Amino acid sequence: MGGSFYLVAWLMIWLSMSDPQQIFGYGVLGSIFFAVMLISRWLHQLPADPDPPALQRWINQHWALIIITTGIWGLVNGLVLHQAIFQISHLVAIIGTIAFSTAFAFTFAMRLPRCVGVLFLLNLPGLLALARGTAEQQPAFICLAIYMVYLLLACRRSHIDYHNTLGNELLLLRQRNDLEELSRTDSLTQLGNRYQFNDLFQTMVATAQRQRSPLSLVLLDIDHFKRINDAYGHVAGDQCLQQFSELMRQVFRRDSDVPLRLGGEEFGVIMPGTTLDQAIQLAEQFRTTLAATQLRIEDQSVVITTSLGAGAYIPEVDRNGDGLYRRVDAALYQAKHDGRNCLRLAQTRG
Ligand code: GH3
Ligand code: MG
Ligand code: MG
Repeated sequence: MGGSFYLVAWLMIWLSMSDPQQIFGYGVLGSIFFAVMLISRWLHQLPADPDPPALQRWINQHWALIIITTGIWGLVNGLVLHQAIFQISHLVAIIGTIAFSTAFAFTFAMRLPRCVGVLFLLNLPGLLALARGTAEQQPAFICLAIYMVYLLLACRRSHIDYHNTLGNELLLLRQRNDLEELSRTDSLTQLGNRYQFNDLFQTMVATAQRQRSPLSLVLLDIDHFKRINDAYGHVAGDQCLQQFSELMRQVFRRDSDVPLRLGGEEFGVIMPGTTLDQAIQLAEQFRTTLAATQLRIEDQSVVITTSLGAGAYIPEVDRNGDGLYRRVDAALYQAKHDGRNCLRLAQTRG
């Protein structure tokens, strides 16, 4: 809205002259100029999808509009205060300039050098005109010069306040992101947890459906893990879980693969863009590698195995992520039933 006041102030200066006809041409020209600047500011809307460079360009263009408007106002003010024919309008010009400068110092102080520059553009011509003017104008000159110094100090103050507030907001945002991240991460293995799975899985299934791209899910449950705890202790069990997770990261290592700890000794991998055949190959590779790996717990080595279920999303069968999850979970159950340390595939019909 700021731009409209320049137009109104100019009209008041022009029309409150003793004889506005005297400068009819300049009056119209000034009105057109401030109207054009006002419309340009209105039309200069934020880009719909602003990336940082586009946003920076928009900000610079908007500042250019503001600087041109305020620069011309400063010159108009200087001219009005310099010319005797505007005598009656002097007060309007001075009050207008004070109002624009005050609003500016408190609204645009986030960019200190630009803000200070604009304050000079707004005030310098008028101050020069008053300084070189009549004796009656000298008190006004002194008052305005003092006010200008006050505005510069206020501008610096609001600049500091603005950046302090911004800093606090960024800090809060970062802390909120950290908390969010923590609440989605399993502290023992640093894999995403069940909460993360619930969130991601539905979204990834929906994306796969929309893009008609494959999506596979592998569920894993460590075999007889209770025995490991019983034989070596809970701490050793934890170390096993960590090494199990590390191996998952090594085998399911595509950027798009999301390995997760779903709870206890149950894990899952969401694999967008992966066909069932590829998922089977990786799941089998994981199973055989695990069975052949000596996990180090304290000074002993342990071998553990896992049962696995795997399946790929079929829109007609699954309808949504829950459908696929149920099929793969049933396959995992089947793997346990078939003697463990094996992979079973999700059934494609009920
Ligand atoms: P199955 O082959 O049928 O899966 O046998 P299991 O012993 O692995 O399965 P069960 O569900 O009977 O036991 C799971 C065990 O996993 C019991 C629990 O003590 C252990 N467990 C779950 N979470 C943790 C954990 O965070 N740390 C440790 N050390 N053990 C855990
Ligand atoms: Mg289990
Ligand atoms: Mg188990």
